[in-house]
Amino acid sequence: MKREPRVLVVEDEPAIAELIAVNLRHHGMAPVLAADGGAAQRAIDAALPDAILLDWMLPGQNGLALARRWRSEPRTKTVPILMLTAKGDEPDKVAGLDAGADDYITKPFSTQELLARIRAVLRRRAPERAEDAVAIGELALDGATHRVSWGQRPVKLGPTEFKLLQYLMKHPERVHSRQQLLDKVWGDHVFIEERTVDVHVKRLREALGPVAGALIETVRGVGYRITGQPEPAGAAKAAVRARAG
Ligand code: CA
Repeated sequence: MKREPRVLVVEDEPAIAELIAVNLRHHGMAPVLAADGGAAQRAIDAALPDAILLDWMLPGQNGLALARRWRSEPRTKTVPILMLTAKGDEPDKVAGLDAGADDYITKPFSTQELLARIRAVLRRRAPERAEDAVAIGELALDGATHRVSWGQRPVKLGPTEFKLLQYLMKHPERVHSRQQLLDKVWGDHVFIEERTVDVHVKRLREALGPVAGALIETVRGVGYRITGQPEPAGAAKAAVRARAG
């Protein structure tokens, strides 16, 4: 179920933007084009990209200011940013990195170089292994077999509830906003409203039953969290296999 990495290309020169887009598409990535900071922000609001290719010289807010802003916002903080710059001199590169860019690439660049740099930032951000097992108390989940159990009882979950539970269990004790859950669990959520999260949390709680369901707490005005200390992955795997097998 691996989806193509979404790369937001913020570039005001249509010819360069199109050239980059063609190459990304050809190499199994999904480019989203934006010609300025406003369009880029709208694209990010619609669906969080896996990486951002950011031109330095843009009309309106320049790339440096945008990089700084996206680095400071919780939602975009961890999205890799690759600065595109026509300026070759060191102080500018340092300024770009200081603003939070992960890497920079100087125009003119070769397609091979660009792809290699994008792949590198995507790798650094490789998501956690979806097949891992995790257990919190009596609640156990195995990503490899898609099995969930509570005590001795197997729990049947729909695919979205499974992913939601998996994400919450892997990040326990932390409060996740609806927006964060949409980004992490749904990924592409252009047309999904925040209350969709509430619907799936409700279904998840119902499937888990009153005791296990209560592990998922509503934090009023903020979002959701799961409480409890996770067990080591090995023990979790053994537990879920023994119970649900
Ligand atoms: Ca430009």
